[in-house]
Amino acid sequence: YMNKSLPYHSSISNATITDINNINCKVRPKLLSIVNSDFFKFFKLNLFSECPFWDDNNGFCTNRACAVDIIEDGYDSLPDYWKPEVLGKIDDLNSLEKQPIDVQDEFLNELCNRKFLSNNPYSPLNCRDIDYCDVDYITNHPDAVLVDLTANPERFTGYGGEQSGLIWKSIYSENCFQTDDKNATGLAQEVFYKLISGMHASIGTHLSNDYLDVESGKWGPNLDLFMFRVGNWTERLENIYFNYAIVAKSIKKISPYLKNLEFCSQYDQKTLDLLGDISGNIDTTLFDENLIFDTELSSEVKDQFRIKFKNVTKIMDCVHCDRCRLWGKVQSTGYATSLKILLEMDNDPMFVVNSLTKYELIALLNTFDRISKSVQLINDFEVMYNEKYNKE
Ligand code: FAD
Repeated sequence: YMNKSLPYHSSISNATITDINNINCKVRPKLLSIVNSDFFKFFKLNLFSECPFWDDNNGFCTNRACAVDIIEDGYDSLPDYWKPEVLGKIDDLNSLEKQPIDVQDEFLNELCNRKFLSNNPYSPLNCRDIDYCDVDYITNHPDAVLVDLTANPERFTGYGGEQSGLIWKSIYSENCFQTDDKNATGLAQEVFYKLISGMHASIGTHLSNDYLDVESGKWGPNLDLFMFRVGNWTERLENIYFNYAIVAKSIKKISPYLKNLEFCSQYDQKTLDLLGDISGNIDTTLFDENLIFDTELSSEVKDQFRIKFKNVTKIMDCVHCDRCRLWGKVQSTGYATSLKILLEMDNDPMFVVNSLTKYELIALLNTFDRISKSVQLINDFEVMYNEKYNKE
């Protein structure tokens, strides 16, 4: 396990792992209320979008058994409800799914009274590209449906093997920056790698915590799996904390501007109070984006960073497990939104605020919830580890 008195990344922050654990204890209950609220629990997803990077039927195995790794042995003898295509499917698509997408949109607009400007295709704001995610898929796609995230928790799905390995590989291989500025390029690569690795480790933490033991048929934490995937790797643990600092700082930065939003007449004040409470607990010094991004990152590297991160959000369409794709989209969109806030807001805050879609905001808060739960789980698993292995 990590040395908790050390900063999670010494060149950009003096905040230690313990500092982040303390912040997390305070914000965790508020974050839970937010992601369970009507406005924040819905995300839009296209279940049928095609993988834009390679031909799904060519080079990738589409046989359902290819998506099985951990429970590959004895796959045929598993009861149907334990099979990855069942564990990984999206449950409880509510009746909204059957409605045309503009009706679904209207439903969320009712929850959020202030119409987001970027919903207007003629908005002059659409001229400058400051997006780090593929916003089109969330705003315009005719096949997209609203999914209730609370009915589809992130958990073990059995998705794995060659397919998921190749997806991770292609995501990591986006990390190749080419400019004349060696310093900025090196920093961009480091930040990009940490972000992806932190997201990967967070997914591994969640699937180890909500794990199906196919022998007993019970769901619960699997300490050994967690140690194998995340706990034995100091770097992976630290990258989870790195991502926490990035997302937390972006929420701190955007929160003064959220006062003008109305999330739902019924819960509006409560949601705004919760957001205010969360941001009040985050110290601005948790992450110093200026140190990494402003002075050292040339605009050329920043442009590449944006394009590469956008590709990551598109690669999620290649994930064959629906529930994994859902959470992959939510989290890659959430990190993209954090980057947009951190890297673009200093130039023109209102431009960035007005360009945020409701789904970027929903993704941002749900991504904070995922990484915050991972931080809590790291501590829970540490207790389990000490009980199991360090007994005198
Ligand atoms: P993988 O996790 O596939 O990793 C491949 C290789 O990457 C490893 O061998 C290792 O060398 C390296 N690596 C692993 N972790 C890290 C890290 N943190 N940092 C740097 N390098 C690393 N499965 C579920 O059960 N539930 C889910 O919700 C889920 N969501 C997913 C979402 C996406 C977008 C993807 C691509 C996969 C998802 N999966 C999910 C599958 C899961 O992430 C693993 O791919 C799968 O469990 C197989 O794991 P593995 O041990 O083969 O290694």
